[in-house]
Amino acid sequence: MTDEIFNGNFTQQEAVPEAAIARAVEVMRSGRLHRYNTRPGETGETAALEEEFAARTGARFALAVASGGYALACALRAISIAPGERVLTNAFTLAPVPGAIVSTGAAPLFVETTPDLVIDLEDLEAKAPQARVLMLSHMRGHLCDMDRLMDIARRYDLTVIEDCAHTMGATWDGVPSGRHGIIGCYSTQTYKHINSGEGGLLVSDDPVVMARAILLSGSYMMYPRHRASPAPAVFEALKYDTPNISGRMDNLRAAILRPQLQDLPAQCARWGRLYDRLACGLADCAGIVLPQADRRAVRVGSSLQFRLKGAGPAQIAGLVSRCLARGVELKWFGAPEPAGYTSRHDSWRYTAAQHLPQTDKVLAELVDMRLPLSFSVEDAAQIARIISQEVTRPDGVMQGQS
Ligand SMILES: *Cc1c(COP(=O)(O)O)cnc(C)c1O
Repeated sequence: MTDEIFNGNFTQQEAVPEAAIARAVEVMRSGRLHRYNTRPGETGETAALEEEFAARTGARFALAVASGGYALACALRAISIAPGERVLTNAFTLAPVPGAIVSTGAAPLFVETTPDLVIDLEDLEAKAPQARVLMLSHMRGHLCDMDRLMDIARRYDLTVIEDCAHTMGATWDGVPSGRHGIIGCYSTQTYKHINSGEGGLLVSDDPVVMARAILLSGSYMMYPRHRASPAPAVFEALKYDTPNISGRMDNLRAAILRPQLQDLPAQCARWGRLYDRLACGLADCAGIVLPQADRRAVRVGSSLQFRLKGAGPAQIAGLVSRCLARGVELKWFGAPEPAGYTSRHDSWRYTAAQHLPQTDKVLAELVDMRLPLSFSVEDAAQIARIISQEVTRPDGVMQGQS
């Protein structure tokens, strides 16, 4: 019997919805692509997107910017991060997070990762006295116990900024991800949950912080054209002292995003079905350990991770290449060299090297996979079959395990 092969493409997104294409064409016909190029009384697409995003997350204020990474750096500047200051953040995250911290002149102080892929709250508490800011990255959509985390933040007076690049649409105990910290940051880059190629969003309830973020993003003196924004008086006190670090979103991308934002809950439900089918197919496979989530966390299943408990580097590398030969593209966080989007704290050499034995142990066994919505539930079932077969085959990962 020949082995079945999966023919899907792990980086193929769905098409942008027709309504979004139609709006984008209108914006192009108008010639008014810049967010502040509006007629008197007109609400531009970017300002409308911000209003809709604020409403969806329940935030008072929202700001659309050029990228998720820009949103993170802008958030740090908006809370007046100082050069040389240490910023606590997850050791398990992606490069734009330490990159955003370093871009402000601050320095990441990494916190360990649990086997369930969330920030280790004991390590966080141990390191909390060394910093006043935590940039919490909900990496791959895994939400830690946010009640406990916010309790630690209160006790140590930590300001929390949330990196929600993988949690747009997720909730903790009914609260949208991004609404626990002073600022929530999101990405609308192609591989996230709504797609404008590049783009980012920030939300906050704090008028001074949001006014600073708007000025920082390059609002010139056009901030009265924002809608999900603090009153003009708040800007008066800040406008001469806040540098313009241009990183605005434009009306074309906002036009593409608005219909997708309407579809987000339905899309998250579809991701959930893909994830559940895949996880169900892998759950009984000896050697595979899936991360466990708290009941209060509602994740968006746009990717799946598992650990190959006790497997060595050669076994995991072998599994990854055998799966690839059968059309299943897995990423391994333990690979010696960073590849594609996958990198590890020890490849961020612009930050001081840090000792993170628990994270290293978790990442050494960690395999990662995207789940684009171009896949069907049947595709998810087939992917699970292929991975299970390769993990359990006689010369596979389980070989040599006791
Ligand atoms: C993608 C990503 C970002 C930043 O998003 P960009 O829009 O690509 O700048 C931040 N954090 C994580 C965890 C990401 O995956």
